[in-house]
Amino acid sequence: NRDLVLEITRLRAERARLLGFDTHAAYVTVDQTARTPEAVADMLGRLAPAAARNARAEQADLQAQLAEGETVEAWDWAHLTSAVRAEKFDVDFAAMRPYFEAERVLQDGVFYAANRLYGIRFTERPDLVAYHPDARVFEARNEDGSELGLYILDLYTRDSKRGGAWMNPLVSQSALLDTPTVVVNNLNVPKPAAGEPTLLTYDETNTLFHEFGHALHGLFARVTYPRFAGTNVFRDFVEFPSQVNEMWMLWPEVLENYAVHHRTGERMPQDLVDRLHASESFNEGFATSEYLAAALLDQAWHRITADDEVTDVAAFEAQALASVGLDNPAVPPRYASTYFAHTFSGGYDAGYYSYIWSEVLDADTVEWFRENGGLTRENGDRFRARLLGVGGSKDPLEAYRDFRGRDAEIEPLLKRRGLDR
Ligand SMILES: [Zn+2]
Repeated sequence: NRDLVLEITRLRAERARLLGFDTHAAYVTVDQTARTPEAVADMLGRLAPAAARNARAEQADLQAQLAEGETVEAWDWAHLTSAVRAEKFDVDFAAMRPYFEAERVLQDGVFYAANRLYGIRFTERPDLVAYHPDARVFEARNEDGSELGLYILDLYTRDSKRGGAWMNPLVSQSALLDTPTVVVNNLNVPKPAAGEPTLLTYDETNTLFHEFGHALHGLFARVTYPRFAGTNVFRDFVEFPSQVNEMWMLWPEVLENYAVHHRTGERMPQDLVDRLHASESFNEGFATSEYLAAALLDQAWHRITADDEVTDVAAFEAQALASVGLDNPAVPPRYASTYFAHTFSGGYDAGYYSYIWSEVLDADTVEWFRENGGLTRENGDRFRARLLGVGGSKDPLEAYRDFRGRDAEIEPLLKRRGLDR
């Protein structure tokens, strides 16, 4: 694939020039929250040293497991860490399942958190028939009783449904057309046998909170043009509100309200949650480094101009990684250039950075909720009015500043991943 990498990046640089941009990365980011490749480079460059430093510390720990004369190689990493993970950070996800009964998660977890934050209420409307018998329709109303829109939950998997989980706006909010907002969440939870409860896995519970965050983004829109409603925002911004909503899944007041054993009615043992938190930052130096290295490669390939002559893929890659200190041979990029489908065929060209970009905003927002007392109406109203409601009708970073009172900082993300050492 070396020749293809060179040809694709050269053609993209040429196209960017024809369209009036210096580089393909400039052409892509102008329509993203980041706006410029320099802003992306700045963010990645600030995260890289902390990630690399922690990966080296993790490497030293793994080295201690090896015999004299042996060194940790890239291919040893997964094997060596799985032993430590099993010994020190064994999280019993199967033991959590009986506490995640789907209806309780939905009503007493997801809807409950939204009610505490935004005052909104959801009422099922069995009289409204959706596109499939499994798709349930809920009417959402504000605290004052005014209509917010319809929320459809299509929880179960079936043969005609594609895999994964997602949110769609079926009807986008707009003052222009004055139509009711309708949003749908799809998951792929296996249907239990008749008479059995639906017990969600940890991941499915987290996914429901996540997708519901997208749904709220759609329901809270208050813009003139449907083009800018709710989730019609840039790719490096759209995951941020849904990532934030995940924080309520394990928030103590919410968790104790919904996570009770479906048979005994007992609360989930705190020990299960503690072990989960303890495992969160394990191996994050490695994971963050390999991700950042791939994101930096994606940027480097798309910051060449139509005049640049790149002929050696391996040399180009090595130089790009060395320039930011992510050239530790024991921690290679998650994808090297010759098998990096996201950037060469997956639609994430010059955009692979967006995962961590939105997570920086997410972690900084979670920190804000924590600092300000968590699950309160004041906090919810501020997040709704200044951020969720404006959708794509305003520069996202301006909306962020308006909500947060300053630009996003990277420290909360470093702390979350245990990289602030
Ligand atoms: Zn999402």
